[in-house]
Amino acid sequence: MPSHDHNKQNVVHVSYQQGASVLTNRYLNRGTAFTMEQRKELRILGALPPTVETLEEQVERAWAQLCRYDKPINRYQHLANIHATNTTLYYAIVLAHVEAVLPIIYTPTVGEACQNFSNYYVRERGLYLNKLLKGHFNEVMKQSLYDNVDIIVITDGSRILGLGDLGSNGIGISIGKCALYVAGAGLHPARVLPIVMDAGTNTERYLADKEYLGMRERRLDDEQFYGLMDEFMESVKTTWPSAVIQFEDFSNNHCFDILERYQNKYRCFNDDIQGTGAVIAAGFLNAIKRSGLPPLEQRIVVFGAGSAAVGVAKNIAQLAARLYNVPVDAVLKTFYLVDTKGLVCDNRGDKLAAHKVLLSRKEVSAADAQHLTTLEAVVQFVKPTALLGLGGVGPVFTEEIVKSVAANAARPIIFPLSNPTSKSECTPEDAYKWTNGAVLVASGSPFPASIVNGKTMKPSQGNNLYVFPGIGLGCAIAQPTYIPDDLLVAASACLNALTTPEQMEADQLYPPLDDIHNISAHIATEVILESQRLGIATNTDLPREKAELLKLVKKSQWVPHYPADVHVKLA
Ligand code: NAD
Repeated sequence: MPSHDHNKQNVVHVSYQQGASVLTNRYLNRGTAFTMEQRKELRILGALPPTVETLEEQVERAWAQLCRYDKPINRYQHLANIHATNTTLYYAIVLAHVEAVLPIIYTPTVGEACQNFSNYYVRERGLYLNKLLKGHFNEVMKQSLYDNVDIIVITDGSRILGLGDLGSNGIGISIGKCALYVAGAGLHPARVLPIVMDAGTNTERYLADKEYLGMRERRLDDEQFYGLMDEFMESVKTTWPSAVIQFEDFSNNHCFDILERYQNKYRCFNDDIQGTGAVIAAGFLNAIKRSGLPPLEQRIVVFGAGSAAVGVAKNIAQLAARLYNVPVDAVLKTFYLVDTKGLVCDNRGDKLAAHKVLLSRKEVSAADAQHLTTLEAVVQFVKPTALLGLGGVGPVFTEEIVKSVAANAARPIIFPLSNPTSKSECTPEDAYKWTNGAVLVASGSPFPASIVNGKTMKPSQGNNLYVFPGIGLGCAIAQPTYIPDDLLVAASACLNALTTPEQMEADQLYPPLDDIHNISAHIATEVILESQRLGIATNTDLPREKAELLKLVKKSQWVPHYPADVHVKLA
């Protein structure tokens, strides 16, 4: 479990000759913040300019440097450099400027960074696994720089954001998510580990690019791929038995199978499927509350039938069942999924991908199915009260479509959730305008407030950051044997309840994101309580009382700082 002493790790052991090596250790280095006394002790007096700065002063200077870069990608690189030289400073900057930094270290800029990751590559961060190391994963993990690991984020780079197969460049997404675990939940920076399982790439551009640093070959077949993944899961269990594994941006042909294969055997979850679902469900159930139309009276059309869409529908059904005491199956029947071929239904004459079967409409006739090939046609047919966008193709929620949804409900629910901004199904501003402000909106990307009929409308954002850090933190502390869906539902219910009545009154469906440390602590607490209730928490030393547990969780959260009483022990 994360040590409760993270904030007191203040004794630096380095040998006499290695004094200066503190400057090249990203976790120990504090650069200009080393006091004269510490510099003397470390024998690095001449290695730094004479000015001694506080962490706050360093943040201010680093921020001014960052602001001199116009392009977000250069700002990303600037922050990456700071992480590589002084990780404490990096997180102090992130936390001092959360809203401005998130779009740089995560979407949308992280997407651009990933697309060209090899071309920008300067130095290592994380772990690179591939078939050349097969049979040796255990050894590779033991040799790595990581002694104790709380969180692992692993991708195979096969479907990064909406950008497709980026091969080993996908490690940028694991790096970004790990940074959010630290910034969002207070995991210790040296105990979060980004990993790429480099199983090749089918992207011609990389195969032909001499600068591409991953395995320059086509993706492995399923047998080889699962051979690597099986060894990876077992090796983590052996090397870092307390780690939580988060699967990230695996393509649809693998992500569901991976979850099914490992979910009940290892401490793991998939953020794209389960995390997204938990976040959107929390906001959606708040929208339902505001709409006045209970879950079973909603008709919900979802544009897109991929991992996010299926996860969202299932989580909404589970949370609605918990909050309204209705059967999960009955809520699932209120969903109508639309993919590239139209309404997902049994009688349309094609073989559905396995993950779509649960939500496939059984009652729609073959004759009807033939006409239900577009979103417009499905909206006319279903007369939905709510519309979710998870197709990742851009502005398909037209004025006509939004207005026809508004005709079916006094407070229609429209969630354009696709990222990045250019892929959003509509802008919240348009949705407000077209419905005269009646709509309840949450978007995937951040959008500015807009003024409709003289009233300022601030759209809610269903950001994944709301739950995965808290889930990871809770699981790192409670050490459940595995991560059943109930833990995700508990997280979702917690987030749903954290929105205050005043925020709800203003149609805010989520609490403010700058309160993320506190939100994560609450979610972690509920996740621990649920693990205890289910009897799967292997850490049995924890209190079972909520307030006491919340206190313990908050105490375990690492915050960037230089301990005042650092002792440098020269051997
Ligand atoms: P995915 O590739 O698994 O799924 C995309 C789905 O959209 C597929 O079912 C596909 O058939 C369908 N689709 C694509 N083009 C279509 C078209 N022209 N007409 C109809 N259907 C079409 O991707 P995913 O992981 O499910 O993510 C989908 C989107 O959701 C992405 O844009 C992603 O950014 C977004 N997302 C948002 C959040 C969030 O807001 N918190 C979280 C995760 C994913």
